[in-house]
Amino acid sequence: MSTHKKLFIPGPVEVRDEVLEKMATPMIGHRTKDASALQQEISEKLQKVMGTKNTIILSTSSGSGLMEGAVRCFTSKKAAIFSIGAFGERWYKMATCNGVPADIFRSELGQITTPEMVDEALSTGEYDMITITHNETSTGIHNPVGEISKVLKAKYPDVILCVDTVSSMCGDYIPVDEWGIDVCITSTQKCLGLPPGMSIASVSDRALEKAKTIPNRGLYFDYVELAKFVKEKPFQYPSTPSESHMFALDYQLDCILKEGMENRYKRHCEMAELVRDWARKNAELYSDPDNLSVTVTCIKNTLGIPFAEINKKMGERGYLLSGGYGALKETTFRIAHMADTTIDEVKEMLRNLDEVIAELKAQNA
Ligand SMILES: *Cc1c(COP(=O)(O)O)cnc(C)c1O
Repeated sequence: MSTHKKLFIPGPVEVRDEVLEKMATPMIGHRTKDASALQQEISEKLQKVMGTKNTIILSTSSGSGLMEGAVRCFTSKKAAIFSIGAFGERWYKMATCNGVPADIFRSELGQITTPEMVDEALSTGEYDMITITHNETSTGIHNPVGEISKVLKAKYPDVILCVDTVSSMCGDYIPVDEWGIDVCITSTQKCLGLPPGMSIASVSDRALEKAKTIPNRGLYFDYVELAKFVKEKPFQYPSTPSESHMFALDYQLDCILKEGMENRYKRHCEMAELVRDWARKNAELYSDPDNLSVTVTCIKNTLGIPFAEINKKMGERGYLLSGGYGALKETTFRIAHMADTTIDEVKEMLRNLDEVIAELKAQNA
């Protein structure tokens, strides 16, 4: 393997050495009191960082696992999937692949899901659960989930609200209970700053009660089963979890709580502002300027140099940035600013980016 490149891609992210070392903790019996204590500690810390009293479940899978589980477990009539890009499309595909009735409501790329769109869809009375992508990693925008949740509270209180916060939880501001999010899903390899391999969800009691009435929920990603092992056992895991992730997560949550959620959010906003400033000055921001993500920035490549060349040169300097995703693969590139990345590291990366672009422009001139 070549030398390590510092990751500025939207997952997996750079993981601090101390966190990586925790992954090497010796294994324990997964049915022991120690295993329960570890899971309980993680749960309590996650409730704090997520702002929720809901049950916390863990899944040894990437975030997609609990997303797929959610469409199966919480849809009895039909799911309304609101899509603002690649990850909304993915949720719709999960529904259709599992034979779960669902309709997709797409926004123009780079735009949000509006509360009005949600209101219009739900006014038909056809849907009993909705999914929202909080932070669309392919376009670099975040949805106004707080505003959307007000529509649900006021007019559709029985509809279950599932939110994908895979690329924003622990970076952006997401008060789960204040917003009434029934099912809030994230995974380890983005703003949490851990290696990929575990996903996390908070789930409300009313969502769990509803899920119990729904047949064919599957087993490995069945929220009822996962929650049963937390509530009734207590704090056990139905199969064998990735203990390595749990050791590292427990430690990392202490660090996150020590930084403080507000400070963490502020740091993400500052990093985002630096990258946006760079983009405004040197190229163009892709998405709706009023709803830009604080964890990843999507930039239109107006530089006149293919992004692959830029990334190759950045690689020689020990950095990895991200190309565009899906439909935006050729026309945009992305810079992530999430997890434990510091303001100074962002500045240093941007300074290198300036130099690389100047070099390439001189070469091509
Ligand atoms: C990365 C990502 C996912 C997929 O998560 P995995 O952990 O890779 O399965 C889903 N939604 C969003 C918004 C993401 O950024």
